[in-house]
Amino acid sequence: MFVEKLQKHLEQESNRRLPQHVNRISSIGWPCDRFLVYSIVAWHDRDSITPELQSIFNEGRKHELLIKQDLATIGMDIIWSERPVWFEAERLSGHIDGVIAYRKSHIAVEIKSISQFVFDKVNTADDMQYSTKPYMQCYLPQLQLYMYGFDLKRGVFLLKNKQTGEIKEIPITLDKEYARYYLNRCYPINDSVDKIRQILKETYQVKEIADLKKKGDQDDYLAIKEDAYKIIDTYLPDRICDFDICKDCSFRTLCLPDEIREERARLFINTELEAKLNRRQELMETRKEYNAIDTEVKERIKEVNTLTNESFIICGDFEITVKQGKTTRVSIKKIGEETNTKE
Ligand code: SF4
Repeated sequence: MFVEKLQKHLEQESNRRLPQHVNRISSIGWPCDRFLVYSIVAWHDRDSITPELQSIFNEGRKHELLIKQDLATIGMDIIWSERPVWFEAERLSGHIDGVIAYRKSHIAVEIKSISQFVFDKVNTADDMQYSTKPYMQCYLPQLQLYMYGFDLKRGVFLLKNKQTGEIKEIPITLDKEYARYYLNRCYPINDSVDKIRQILKETYQVKEIADLKKKGDQDDYLAIKEDAYKIIDTYLPDRICDFDICKDCSFRTLCLPDEIREERARLFINTELEAKLNRRQELMETRKEYNAIDTEVKERIKEVNTLTNESFIICGDFEITVKQGKTTRVSIKKIGEETNTKE
């Protein structure tokens, strides 16, 4: 009952795409310019994420709050929590996790919760910078830009192992040249964005004045739109053709380079596997339905069962055992078969 509602909420959250109008500090380290342009001009075409991934992101935000609370309990109050940073000329914005006032200096703090596997591998700034994971390559530019924006000479990453709760810190010193490199990266991105926006604006204007019910206007508009997309393609930065990056990109459905798609597709053409994948998908749907009915049935049984301790109910061909304890356990079995569900 509650799980389904929570699941539904997660699904809605994971399908949501938020508009992006300027560059973001948290992603400016992504190793593909085309991704950075898409993030602004095609944010609505981002692939939606799975509810499971959404849940992981939500957990990350909760871990961040918990770490801030833990720091406060040892007298390390976070000041400037979520304070905005804005670079006007570069049209680059973000929010710093926080700054700690420590021994007369201010230290920028960036909190990340990560899996056990990644936690064990990341011990230095270089481990992030040269990681094969594109999201991890974004970490160092992010903190350096916050430090640069607030003119803070010191920063620290607090990394939390999501499995064990263990925390490690990686101290960072401001490197202005490094931060400026990422500021400079914004200019060609903005240039592409402006050109694409101009083309899109002109195309929308044509659409506004066209009478799309008339065949002639409709054909003209479609031809103009097709030309517009050809021009836009010339304004987009080149694809990077690196599957290790593209596979984690939220625009891969829109953009995944054909060379990569075909190369990878050849590796996985297998009719037997495809049949199993289709069957797997069907069973996933069935499992969802099973879980929903199982929960509903057990809730109903708990409502009708007024006896304490252990009781039995016979309903049709089914024998149901209800055990009351700290929680109520319901076991259902078809008469003559082994018990097949437990709670
Ligand atoms: S799919 Fe690859 S090339 Fe296309 S935007 Fe994403 S990372 Fe860049």
